[in-house]
Amino acid sequence: MNICVIGTGYVGLVSGVCFSDIGNKVTCVDIDENKISNLKKGIIPIYEPGLEELVLKNIKENRLSFTTQLDKALDEADVVLIAVGTPPKENGEADLRFVEAVATSIGKNLNGYKVIVTKSTVPVGTGKWIKGIIEKEAGHSNFDVASNPEFLREGSAIYDTMNMERAVIGVESDKAKEVLTELHKPFNTNIVVADIETAEMIKYAANAFLATKISFINEIANICELVGADVTKVAEGMGYDNRIGKAFLAAGIGYGGSCFPKDTNALINIAANVGYNLRIVKDVENVNAMQRFRVYDKVKEAFNGELEGKKLAVLGLAFKPNTDDMRAAPSIDVIPKLLEDGADVIAYDPVAMANAKREIANLNTVNSYEEAVQGADAVIVLTDWKEFKDLDLADLKKKLKQPVLIDGRNMFDLNQMADLGYYYASIGRRTVN
Ligand code: NAD
Repeated sequence: MNICVIGTGYVGLVSGVCFSDIGNKVTCVDIDENKISNLKKGIIPIYEPGLEELVLKNIKENRLSFTTQLDKALDEADVVLIAVGTPPKENGEADLRFVEAVATSIGKNLNGYKVIVTKSTVPVGTGKWIKGIIEKEAGHSNFDVASNPEFLREGSAIYDTMNMERAVIGVESDKAKEVLTELHKPFNTNIVVADIETAEMIKYAANAFLATKISFINEIANICELVGADVTKVAEGMGYDNRIGKAFLAAGIGYGGSCFPKDTNALINIAANVGYNLRIVKDVENVNAMQRFRVYDKVKEAFNGELEGKKLAVLGLAFKPNTDDMRAAPSIDVIPKLLEDGADVIAYDPVAMANAKREIANLNTVNSYEEAVQGADAVIVLTDWKEFKDLDLADLKKKLKQPVLIDGRNMFDLNQMADLGYYYASIGRRTVN
């Protein structure tokens, strides 16, 4: 098939390259000229494992191209995927400005039947709204709109797309259903066909549920600390139950990123707009907002409340490992608190430091973990990168001024930390002292 992807960010670029890799001809469109000119040269704007190789391969094999000219890309397309951002507005609602601009341009340039698919996460009712805009601009209705929400995770986006657990297809015509079913056939996945509103709702419900699991286990972690239980064992014991499942039961400093905070908030607004008070998800947000400060509290506790002049090595800035995405990362809230208290914060992240510097004022970064920890009074782990998990903890201790490790991601074994003589505080487990 001939596919035009509009919006070449995490979702658009990854979807575009994966659809091209399975044999489609894909043109990725973006208004960001710099991004497109770099992509044409094979320079990838984001960090995502395996992405660069796959982009280069598919450019070489003439299945993948990049442009800023929507009209030309649209010309030959059978399927148009809208993958622009839907960031939160001040009031938490999804901002549909970019979607509206794209729908208007599609309408102006529509030259024949196409299936116009929204991949962006959009409030229920947006598909129909897009249809209205395109119809008005095009002056005809020789097209179908559809919803195909995206479920990939940053950090494993290529794997998630190539091995998708399901494709949700929201349609209002058999033709669109056929086209989208055909498009997803090579993925050999579960296909859930629904109406457009239901497909739009599935995305929000899925993300709100995952966020709920995280806040739930974080609350259990907080109780565990008070009653002397170990949340990692609690989660293990719970997770063997198929009704619960093991995933998303890792206690820590809460979720961040571009999706969970935005989508839970948008769902609360979707509900409020139809007069429904979404209590559970509101509390999920409240718990998450508090949770990231647990690590700050634990640093204070380790130094009896006095952080002035302490050299603190922060390991990890991105909201999760294997990404350079800093959107809503806990580090954005935690580091300024440490700085306000007069600490000397030296941070290191394998890939997110450039983005982090734009988000965190006066952030001091170094190019290796060794430089960050040398002579530090404490190490604070904010992101569970594998390279931190693999640290030689005995060697690390030798580099530190004081063997204090505050772990927001429960990466290390309590007994090992005790044997090595660390002061080790983590989430939902006893503090080793
Ligand atoms: P992003 O910000 O990384 O990328 C969006 C891209 O759209 C940018 O490159 C921007 O320049 C481009 N754009 C904006 N207006 C445009 C226009 N008029 N024409 C062409 N391009 C335009 O966003 P993202 O993270 O890829 O997210 C896109 C959507 O997918 C959002 O709705 C998001 O909620 C959803 N989503 C994201 C993820 C994720 O992990 N990032 C996962 C699932 C769903």
